[in-house]
Amino acid sequence: MSIVTRFAPSPTGLLHLGHVASAMAGWRAAREAGGRFLLRIEDIDQTRCRPAYTTAILEDLAWIGLDWDGPVRVQSAHFPEYQAVLDTLAARGLLYPCFCTRAEIQREVLAAASAPHAPDGSLRYPGTCRGLSDSEREDRIAAGAPHVLRLDVAAALATVTTPLWFEDIRRGQIMCTPQQFGDVVLARKDTPASYHLCVTHDDAVQGVTLVTRGDDLRPATDLHRLLQAVMGWPVPRYAHHPLLSDESGRRLAKRDRAMSVRAMREAGMRADDIRKRAMLPS
Ligand code: GLU
Repeated sequence: MSIVTRFAPSPTGLLHLGHVASAMAGWRAAREAGGRFLLRIEDIDQTRCRPAYTTAILEDLAWIGLDWDGPVRVQSAHFPEYQAVLDTLAARGLLYPCFCTRAEIQREVLAAASAPHAPDGSLRYPGTCRGLSDSEREDRIAAGAPHVLRLDVAAALATVTTPLWFEDIRRGQIMCTPQQFGDVVLARKDTPASYHLCVTHDDAVQGVTLVTRGDDLRPATDLHRLLQAVMGWPVPRYAHHPLLSDESGRRLAKRDRAMSVRAMREAGMRADDIRKRAMLPS
């Protein structure tokens, strides 16, 4: 089977060394095996993404010397596909509308739960709206009450008959516990499809066989694996890599302009040096 890898940045800031590390890991795996390396722009959150960052990302990758195969997939051009997935999940009774405000969730979770946070640091939703009746849901939606759509994780898990695991090439077989996220939001008004839904859908439709990304997204893979099982999508292998830090040991973030590829290039650093600095320990 031919290998297909991808780099999937969100254009919410400039690329830094950590992104280059993820991109290079995917690029190298594809090039060494005569496979394909794809580029995808994950710009579904239109409140945070900027076209100028997309332009900068494409320029910086090309300057570093990373080339990609085929056209760039831009997620904002595919909202109807994500809607179709939401429709499928809804038809199977795996989505429910949630009317809770952030403040309500915070109050309830902090009062009741012993482990209030999901692995990504967000509050773990306690399932308040899961038990609403159909008529109550319909009345509130008809009255224009703002709401998001959540995945009923327990119901989704109940549809899966085989053990949920994936292969991480650094760690081996990993058993998945998507419950630790609680019922995640899969759609909201200003972002009609969530990261979890779009990334999993796109890896499937693009035929990605190896996902290279940072360890910060390792827990999210449990959730992605659940969506793959529920939707019948193929399961890629994963290569989650350690996150890079700056000289003081702080994790790199998009807000640190000084560590961006752009700033290093402007400071006179060569593409070759940046590629070396973004090398991951094997
Ligand atoms: N778009 C995500 C980000 O920039 C990465 C998605 C992924 O590699 O799975 O953080």
